[in-house]
Amino acid sequence: MTEQARQAAVLMDGTATARAIRAEIAQGVTELVGAGRPAPHLAAVLIGADPASETYVSMKQKACRWVGMDSSVHRLGTDCSQAQAEDLVARLNADEAISGILVQHPLPKHLHEPAVLDKVCAEKDIDGISRMSLGGLINGEPAFSSCTPAGIVELLDRYGVQIEGKTAVVVGRSIILGKPVAMMLLNRNATVTICHSRTSDLAGFTRQADILVAAVGKAELITGAMLKSGAAVIDAGYNRVEGRSGDVGDVEFESAKRVAGFITPVPGGVGPMTIAMLLRNTLRAAQGRIG
Ligand code: NAP
Repeated sequence: MTEQARQAAVLMDGTATARAIRAEIAQGVTELVGAGRPAPHLAAVLIGADPASETYVSMKQKACRWVGMDSSVHRLGTDCSQAQAEDLVARLNADEAISGILVQHPLPKHLHEPAVLDKVCAEKDIDGISRMSLGGLINGEPAFSSCTPAGIVELLDRYGVQIEGKTAVVVGRSIILGKPVAMMLLNRNATVTICHSRTSDLAGFTRQADILVAAVGKAELITGAMLKSGAAVIDAGYNRVEGRSGDVGDVEFESAKRVAGFITPVPGGVGPMTIAMLLRNTLRAAQGRIG
């Protein structure tokens, strides 16, 4: 990377990228329907009355409409039993009209969430977070990828950031984000380090990263001084900070953009990519593909 390029990091625009992906998906849906197949159908399982979950599900339904997909919401009350939750997923697995199943989480605390997620069959696990799908990611077997990690890798690809042979550092090791994105980067032949809350000398690791993924949930934890010059910096964090309007990322954008070669904004970086990947997985499921 030249000195000139280092002075102005390329903004990785997740909103525009997601829009382009949605147009591609809409075209794919048109072709599928044109070939006499039913439109893809995303079934969302919504358990309980969490307002944030309601919002996320309605955003995903709206996104389905944009691309010509069908969607439905299957509700259970907060006090539903483990068996009721698992039976609902089993019924949706067996329903041929449904291409993909999304179990909106978190589930009410009395339910064993992994067991409910594991009920979703691999062919319909368009959220990619059952233990079967995560195992497929590790074993290199066909499986849908978890949507936010997939969105991160897609952004890197669409902005031409080389992954193979690069040093990648992922800060955060959650099962929905840090671990799967680290595995996806490893599968693409990056050399990957995962940092977490017990990592000593975090900056010592982040300064080595050609690709830095921040997946922590701590506002502006990563500053420009912690970055390697020219790094691709992907900020998955969404944090509410008192006294500031809107969401704040895990990366201190103003200092980071002066050091990075590529950087995602918050909002408008990783966030919009998640739903785009959910739609892409649903289209692929309807096409009979896994992953
Ligand atoms: P999480 O489950 O709370 O995991 C946070 C991770 O960060 C943990 O592995 C934790 O380490 C690590 N961590 C905490 N403090 C740290 C520190 N000071 N230094 C280094 N590592 C530290 O969070 P998550 O669900 O992965 O989400 C992370 C962020 O991404 C949140 O802001 C969330 O809102 C956002 N997110 C965005 C999207 C999207 O854009 N669509 C989707 C999912 C999540 P330990 O394991 O040691 O505790």
